[in-house]
Amino acid sequence: MAGTFLNKLKRGLFMTHTEFLEKVGETFQRTGPVEPAHIDQLEEALISADAGVPLSVRLADELRDEVKANRITTMEELRPAVRQRLLKLLNDADSPQQLSGDSPRVTLVVGVNGTGKTTTVAKLAKRRMEAGTSVVLAAADTFRAAAVEQLKIWADRVDAPVVHQQEGADPAAVVYDAIAAAKARNIDEVLVDTAGRLHTRANLMKELEKVKGVAAREVDGAPHEVLLVLDATTGSNGIEQAQQFGATAGVDGVVLTKLDGTAKGGVILAIAEILKLPVRWVGVGEGIDDLLPFDPVGFVDSLLDVET
Ligand code: GDP
Repeated sequence: MAGTFLNKLKRGLFMTHTEFLEKVGETFQRTGPVEPAHIDQLEEALISADAGVPLSVRLADELRDEVKANRITTMEELRPAVRQRLLKLLNDADSPQQLSGDSPRVTLVVGVNGTGKTTTVAKLAKRRMEAGTSVVLAAADTFRAAAVEQLKIWADRVDAPVVHQQEGADPAAVVYDAIAAAKARNIDEVLVDTAGRLHTRANLMKELEKVKGVAAREVDGAPHEVLLVLDATTGSNGIEQAQQFGATAGVDGVVLTKLDGTAKGGVILAIAEILKLPVRWVGVGEGIDDLLPFDPVGFVDSLLDVET
């Protein structure tokens, strides 16, 4: 399992980014005493992989301090020190998932248009069904007729029921219907595809709040999970976009899409540092099976090219 994740991640994540791996590989292949230039090189590599300047600089400064204080003296000690720090960063951003709660479980998928929300809902549906969880999809992006159509196409492909209304309908009503359908048919989970754009951001936030309110009224503890979809190819701009989108409040985790063929894999670290959110899933292609559970250890090890 871990092996598959690592392989797919490596193939996807760094396919076009050998320069980063080369830089890091070069740094860590060295033996003997740590020199300032090695830490500079690592700092540059992290910045170029879009880990974000603040994190890259902070990490490098911490390592420099450790070297100064003689707590890290050799290159052999440097790699585990970096590994440990990156894992701590990812663990600190993590929070326990709400797995219990009343049924049906309600999962909202939110994010800016074009990031891969609808595709992610379909991929998640397939994953859940494979794990023996029954699902119903709620087409709550009623702002765009195309979004509903697209979700229906995906739903057909994975053979999942989808609840929808006409364009312009109240998304909260769609969610209400979907929850009612789940209750009536004993379906375990409602996966909600939400709008990524409305006339104004304030409207969008109000709409999301209303959807959440209806879910909470209909099922105790709902929504059980709110997943924010971010497009890895937009790198740190995606993070800024997420902050502007304003949806980070009340978000439990991130789905990072389009990791295949991007140089921006380090953005996972920036998400932990800036948004303080765990990445739960990564999208590595346009196919229905191209969604992988995120494994922090596998990620850090592939980033640092550590054999496991
Ligand atoms: P939405 O507007 O947020 O609902 O985005 P869509 O789900 O419609 O996706 C927008 C585009 O991104 C589509 O062409 C998808 O095929 C593509 N896409 C979504 N996820 C991935 C991914 O993980 N990798 C790649 N390469 N493309 C993706």
